[in-house]
Amino acid sequence: MDRYILIVEDEQRLATLLGEYLQQAGFSTSWLQSGESVVSRVRERAPQMVLLDLMLPGKDGLTICREIRQFSQLPIMMITARVEEIDRLLGLELGADDYICKPFSPREVVARVKAVLRRGQQIKEQEETPLLQLDQAACTASLAGQQLELTAVEFRLLSALAAQPGRIFSRDQLMSHIYRDQRIVCDRTIDSHIKKLRKKLADAAPDLEMIHSVYGVGYKLER
Ligand code: CA
Repeated sequence: MDRYILIVEDEQRLATLLGEYLQQAGFSTSWLQSGESVVSRVRERAPQMVLLDLMLPGKDGLTICREIRQFSQLPIMMITARVEEIDRLLGLELGADDYICKPFSPREVVARVKAVLRRGQQIKEQEETPLLQLDQAACTASLAGQQLELTAVEFRLLSALAAQPGRIFSRDQLMSHIYRDQRIVCDRTIDSHIKKLRKKLADAAPDLEMIHSVYGVGYKLER
């Protein structure tokens, strides 16, 4: 079903508001108030995307997200009432495509929904001719046909981000990818590696901004 979004939210006021804004943006929506029937609804109607509240009666958003991921890669945007939760959710590696914190502006949700869908579309288009190519055996990478001169740390950083485009990685998660000996380094170390990596990517493809910072959370790679 094209442009159909499933909203799972137990607060009726919020669900109605989200539904109205998404419909204005040209989506059709339906709403489930509790968690039990979400998975079967997703199987039946194959929404283009699910907006999934974390705290739900019946079955919580974490469990639902895991269950959906067992059979589908459809975009999932998790909604949580606490910004501190986002770090924990990232750590659980649920495979959600984005996280949004309450209170949110419905306009922002619509913009993020569109961004996630656009990203999915771009990934599909680029699967045939990947812009960024990584050779794990040789530890080399190329962007838009140009070989990148990366240090070992930069290569591991890029590999980690590129393994799951669109996923937000916290600095801690990136740190554990690039330093296998668990040495203690400060957050700013990641920032400085990212800065150098960005510069090398920009040299190869000036029009692409590939690595995005997510304020207060970490980094993600956009394709
Ligand atoms: Ca709730």
